[in-house]
Amino acid sequence: MTKVFLRKKIAPRIANGHPWIYGNEVDRIDGPVNGGDIVEVFFGDGKPAGRGYINPKSQIVVRLLTRKAENIDEAFFDRRIREAWEYRKKIGYTENCRLIFGEADQMPALIIDKFNDYFVIQTLALGMDLWKPAIVQSINKLFSPKGIYERNDVPVRELEGLPLQKGFLSAPFDTEILINENGLKFRVDIENGQKTGYFLDQQDNRRAIRHIVKDADVLGVFTYTGTFEIHAASYGAKSVLGLDISENAVAQANKNAALNGLDHICRFEAVNAFDVLKQWGKEGRLYDVVMLDPPAFTKSRSNIEKALTGYKEINLRGMKLVKNGGFLVTSSCTNLVSPEQFIQMIELAAKDARKKIRQVTFQAQASDHPIIWGMENTNYLKFLIVEITDK
Ligand code: SAH
Repeated sequence: MTKVFLRKKIAPRIANGHPWIYGNEVDRIDGPVNGGDIVEVFFGDGKPAGRGYINPKSQIVVRLLTRKAENIDEAFFDRRIREAWEYRKKIGYTENCRLIFGEADQMPALIIDKFNDYFVIQTLALGMDLWKPAIVQSINKLFSPKGIYERNDVPVRELEGLPLQKGFLSAPFDTEILINENGLKFRVDIENGQKTGYFLDQQDNRRAIRHIVKDADVLGVFTYTGTFEIHAASYGAKSVLGLDISENAVAQANKNAALNGLDHICRFEAVNAFDVLKQWGKEGRLYDVVMLDPPAFTKSRSNIEKALTGYKEINLRGMKLVKNGGFLVTSSCTNLVSPEQFIQMIELAAKDARKKIRQVTFQAQASDHPIIWGMENTNYLKFLIVEITDK
């Protein structure tokens, strides 16, 4: 096995458990370097750091899979996937969950979403991509699934020299599947939907709106397939209007509302949220609850300021549409905006909107996406509910 020796004077990040090794942290490599190979890593003092896969084309040269001197083989993937499933079950996920959340499950660059009997996988680095057959075999062995689908149409793969692709990793099946969440039914398009088809990361947070939406007129912005909105209707909202820029999302949201017998309460419109929120603010429209769940406004650190401006604008406009004493439910799904920055942004928006805010709850993503302290990218979702009153 090729040996990778780290420099002596590097930050303690790797020693503290972070699995990424950057090119400038490597002192020397003994042995051949083939992209995707498993290598053995040693600290500057010669002590073993673990084993992982190498890709000289990537800025992250090695990602560690283990801290032990264990074999990386099919049995290793079996073990890791089984452990991840045991953990999910232990914390209460029975049907749908993010089964593997990359680094948080010691499986860097691997995502597996379990939608009951169906599985969607993403292998986002070369070294993980090469193990796709072993991963599929483990899923088959452990779950006897009805279908496995690959959503590797993710641009980040290009940084690893990998093609963008999607398709079946099992016998073909109808990719518009049906899932249950919190007692509601949702159609999920795992072939053409966003990311893996469905945002499991908000599944716990959707329950957090239960009390505040009762008898309320609710506006849901960035609705996608209507999940927050349909939850609101089932929790007793008087009326729910959901907005999304995508016609496809709106069509799917309408289908989902009907599927749950809630289409007399939920209505969805395909519009640009930035335009209509501004307009409705001018018109003086008001709602008891406004929910915002925008996409990541940035994917790179250099754009954080611009992204924060976007988040502030949408939150300011959202707040203005909340009745005195009503609630704003607001999220951000990029780890590039820290929880502190997010709160600060909300404070500034409230100041500009001349509103007083009181925090009801501040949460992260659902617990099937575990957070590892010290691994920033595992702590990415902010979910905040605040009461809004006039100043
Ligand atoms: N709330 C959803 C997830 C939302 S994802 C859930 O719980 O599943 C973000 C959504 O914002 C996407 O569906 C995208 O189509 C939509 N979107 C992006 N830009 C938009 C804009 N300017 N106006 C309205 N919707 C937009």
